[in-house]
Amino acid sequence: MKIDLLIKNAKIIDGTSNPWYYGSLAVEGDEIVEVIRDNDPENLKKYEAAKIIDAQNKFLSPGFIDVHSHSDFVFFLDSDAQSKLRQGVTTEVIGNCGISGAPYNELSADQVKSFTYGFEAEWESPEEFLTALAAVEKTVNLTPLLGHGTLRAYVMGMDNREATSAELKKMQEILAQALDLGYRGMSTGLYFSPGNFADQSELIALAEVISSKNGVLTSHIRDEGVKSIGFINAVKEIIEIAEKAEVSLEISHLKAFGPDVWGSSREVLDLIEKARERGLEVTADQYPYLATGGLMASDVLPNEFLSNKSNQEAMTELKQESVRAELRDIVALNIKRRGGAENQIIANYPADHSLEGMTLKEIADSWDVEPVDALFKMLTEYLAGDWISRALNEDDVVNFMQYYASMVSSDGVSLSNSGVLASGNPHPRNYGSYTEVLSKYVRDKKILNLEEAVRKMTSLPAQKFNLKNRGLIEQNKIADLVIFDLDQIKSPTFSNPDFYPQGISAVIVNGKIAVLDSEYQEVKAGKLILS
Ligand SMILES: [Zn+2]
Repeated sequence: MKIDLLIKNAKIIDGTSNPWYYGSLAVEGDEIVEVIRDNDPENLKKYEAAKIIDAQNKFLSPGFIDVHSHSDFVFFLDSDAQSKLRQGVTTEVIGNCGISGAPYNELSADQVKSFTYGFEAEWESPEEFLTALAAVEKTVNLTPLLGHGTLRAYVMGMDNREATSAELKKMQEILAQALDLGYRGMSTGLYFSPGNFADQSELIALAEVISSKNGVLTSHIRDEGVKSIGFINAVKEIIEIAEKAEVSLEISHLKAFGPDVWGSSREVLDLIEKARERGLEVTADQYPYLATGGLMASDVLPNEFLSNKSNQEAMTELKQESVRAELRDIVALNIKRRGGAENQIIANYPADHSLEGMTLKEIADSWDVEPVDALFKMLTEYLAGDWISRALNEDDVVNFMQYYASMVSSDGVSLSNSGVLASGNPHPRNYGSYTEVLSKYVRDKKILNLEEAVRKMTSLPAQKFNLKNRGLIEQNKIADLVIFDLDQIKSPTFSNPDFYPQGISAVIVNGKIAVLDSEYQEVKAGKLILS
């Protein structure tokens, strides 16, 4: 039997969380044509394979599906962006946190700025975006969500007010068209402007459109700490919205942010579980770190200040002494709520790259000013910078991880450690979320067993986002695969964040070998996959 690829001598983890078994896989084109429960060389002789990979008793699992990615723009800048691929990811769900590649105009361009990496889009509609995304080469499969914040900015700018009925109708129409084109659903960023300007009725009206097309509502909830309504209330709010709209809900990057809410994971999981018992299809995802990544401006400046203005306008206002004086106490408090200036590490700050990697405390000390004033100075020069905040506690991270309806995500971007995407001091989640779960939480701490961790990276995300042919090793499924050596996995760290993890031996995307012997093969087999 002639086939394109035979993977032999593997310990197969099929993605269901069933225990691994010895076997081999026959791949033809982009499809698994046979799962062979046999490694006997005699019996494998019937396959005439163009290429053979000897897995040498390493684990073979479905490729990982990253349900929370922000790779909306990066492949237009560097089609070799490989930081997801090389941790075993074969599919990314993009357009999260209310931020998406389309619809794109002058009004929404500001809102997506922190994820464009300087790229200037030429498309406008979701349809044009999909056409561009389908045409560009990419290392992994991408599947889109429409961002509510981007949609709202496109229609209403950064206005902090209720949508008129005409505006709401326009948002519903664009959303419905996007879902008809194959978008998987809509993401909300209720923490960010302008997502946080939307009232419940707007969100429900849009969620009902998603529900009518069997899509998913994902949410970066209004508050993961104590910045506005509080973590518990924010979880209750999004559950209530989803229940009213009867829509499938994904709570994005679930976390208890900041010492004020540490220890609340049990209560939150209880709210989620109760909602499931009432019949709401609610799940969550999580990245496996004790530090978050976020936008400096949204994290410290009050929403009222950011309302109704462009980044440029906000920067101009911040230059006024009187404006800073008025905001000083709340900004200082918000820094404290995040664990203090010593726990805020600058990640991307294009106005002065030399500050990247430093803590806010270090910068303030070197300028001989208070941290709050150092931050004001930075924000007046560049508003869309981002930082890493050491603000999570491990008990909560572990509780969320062990919850059966939570899956693994990165909240990161496909990057490269050379070329245009290599700048800044990235959060290691961009390079190692999946290997971090495998090495730290499966192998070293034994928080999860391996097969369960793989389920959270494969079949659970595929089921949630309706990726019908992926996420399992079964006959006729798409050959998105990863081979890894659990003992050899070494993940990037905060002090060394941008190296490609070790221990990921091979990654196969749509039947094509993209990583082999832990080396990138310059194969860009990713596709745009639509529902
Ligand atoms: Zn988010």
